[in-house]
Amino acid sequence: MINSEANKMLFTKPELTVEDLTVALHQANLKLREANRRLVDSEKKRTELLANISHDLRSPITTLRGYVEYLLSYNLQDHEEVLFILNQMYKKFLSLDYLLNEMFMITSLDALAEMIILIPYQIKKCLVDFFISCEKDKKYAKRRLSLEIPEDFTYYVLLNVEMFERVLDNLFTNALKYSKENDEILMQATLRGREITIAITDTGIGIEEDMLTRIFEHTFMISDSRTPEDAKGCGLGLSIASSIMEKHKGRIWCESTLGKGSTFYLSLPIYEEEVKPPLKAI
Ligand code: ADP
Repeated sequence: MINSEANKMLFTKPELTVEDLTVALHQANLKLREANRRLVDSEKKRTELLANISHDLRSPITTLRGYVEYLLSYNLQDHEEVLFILNQMYKKFLSLDYLLNEMFMITSLDALAEMIILIPYQIKKCLVDFFISCEKDKKYAKRRLSLEIPEDFTYYVLLNVEMFERVLDNLFTNALKYSKENDEILMQATLRGREITIAITDTGIGIEEDMLTRIFEHTFMISDSRTPEDAKGCGLGLSIASSIMEKHKGRIWCESTLGKGSTFYLSLPIYEEEVKPPLKAI
C-alpha cells in the first residue's frame, strides 16, 4: 500500500501531528519511487535480454536458411561440396542447441530455485574430479593446467555438484577461449575465514577494468572481435554462473589486467559439520 507507513503511524500513534504524517508520507513516497525505479530497470534488462536473444537466434537461423536454399536450388554433384555445407550446417545447429540450453538455464534458474538440492560435499573431491576431467580433455592439450590444493583440505560445502561443475566448466572454457597456446590455467583453493575461495587464473588477454562487473550481466560480451570465430559464446555463461553461485550462498568476482590475464574467484561458505561423509549426489 502506498501510504502504509502513514497508516501504520496513524493506528499505532493516534496523537500524531501533521508534520509526523508528512514525514511518513514522504518516506513512503521515496520507497515507492525506489520500487518503481527497480521495476523500470528490470523491465529494461528484460527487453534487452529479449532483443539480444532474438538477435542471437536470428543469425544462425538465417545462415541455415541460406545453406538449405543453396542445397535446394542447385543440383549439386560435388560430394565434397555437399559434405562441406552439411558440416557447416551441423556447426550452426550445435550453436543453436547451445544457445537454447543457455537460455533455458537463465530463465529457469530463478523459477527452479526451490528445487535445487544442495548436499554436503567435500570440495576438494569436486575440484580434483573436475580438474582430472579437464586434463583428459584434448581441448586443453595446448594449455598448461595446474591445480594447487593443500593436502589437508578436508572441508565440506553445501553443493549441487552438477551446477557447480557447470560454473567451473564455464570459467575453464573462458580461460581457454581467451588465451593462446602454452598459456597457463591454474586452479587454487584456500580457506579465508569461514569461506572456501577457489581461484581460476589464466595468462590470457585479460579484461579492461571498467568491464569487470559488466561481464556478469545477461548477454554481455565485451566485443565479438576478441573471441575466435569457432569459440564464440552467447555472453550468458558468466551471468548463469553468478546465479548458480547465488543459489549456493556464494559469490563470484573477477580481477584482471589487460594483456596479462584474469583470475575468477568463487567463494562458498564452509559446511560446519565437516566430519559428515558426503551423501550421494543426485
Ligand atoms: P561468452 O559466452 O561470450 O564467453 P561469458 O558470459 O562466459 O560469455 O563471458 C562474458 C564476456 O567476458 C566474454 O564475452 C569475454 O569478453 C569476457 N571474458 C570472460 N572470461 C574471460 C577470460 N578468462 N579472459 C578474458 N575475457 C573473458
